Amino acid sequence: MIEAAIKYQKAVRIGVNWGSLDQAKMAQMMDDNGKSATPLSADELMREALIQSALESAEQAVDIGLDPNQIIISCKVSNVQDLVKVYTTLAQRCDYPLHLGLTEAGMGSKGVVASTAALALLLQAGIGDTIRVSLTPEPNESRTKEVIVAQEILQTMDIRSFTPLVTACPGCGRTTSTYFQELAMKIQSYLRAQMPVWRSQYPGVENLNVAVMGCVVNGPGESKLANIGISLPGTGETPVAPVFVDGEKTVTLKGDHIAQEFQAIVEDYVQKNYAEGGKLRSELALKSNAKIIPIQVTH
Ligand code: SF4
Repeated sequence: MIEAAIKYQKAVRIGVNWGSLDQAKMAQMMDDNGKSATPLSADELMREALIQSALESAEQAVDIGLDPNQIIISCKVSNVQDLVKVYTTLAQRCDYPLHLGLTEAGMGSKGVVASTAALALLLQAGIGDTIRVSLTPEPNESRTKEVIVAQEILQTMDIRSFTPLVTACPGCGRTTSTYFQELAMKIQSYLRAQMPVWRSQYPGVENLNVAVMGCVVNGPGESKLANIGISLPGTGETPVAPVFVDGEKTVTLKGDHIAQEFQAIVEDYVQKNYAEGGKLRSELALKSNAKIIPIQVTH
């Protein structure tokens, strides 16, 4: 495999998983540890075995002739604290790019939270060059959720933008309507669905911020901070929805077609602000990103 990578000038990810660690190596390390005057704990030994295994495999690839610049290392474990310790040590002990991923993170919110906690700690410390989120899908659930979560981790940490994000209030006793939730969901799905075309047509549009708020208490304030925001009527409020564009109130929507009209306002904003001069926005956004991290979606 390494010879083929050398021949075709391809990068190789050299990865070790706790579940597939070389058992002979582990047994040898346990023997040596038992004889040591300052033995490592079982957890420390496991992490050391992973790190050594990955680095030794990388050295073997370099010995065969692979350029170190074509190597990326991964050392996946399923516990958040172990992952942070393993990658913090790896970053100190080598210069290879590192692929981050909490393996077997689990289903639903547990998988999302555990992956986010682990990756956020490492990314914030400047560790990691590609990422993978491993979620167990619900039966019949799409696997694209893994990619969406990975992108949202990077985007919410201001590392790289992929899709315009919708800021929405959580809802509370001030609104009994579910309309703001439906509208927030509809707009987010609409924005995501447009991206394959918008990405090339409207460069920089991924940095757009849209707010959908549930009542007048925080609605106008939060809406003014977004590029486009709408403050829907809460319980007992006049059934109108002021819309703010770049901080200015531009129109008040009412009636049965608020969702369609708001979507049209978003579309109009995108056309006006990103079709021409969009490239400039994109370049500015890129400059403000400390590091560009591609998303790795293979296991
Ligand atoms: S904006 Fe209004 S409805 Fe939404 S959480 Fe705040 S107070 Fe509640």
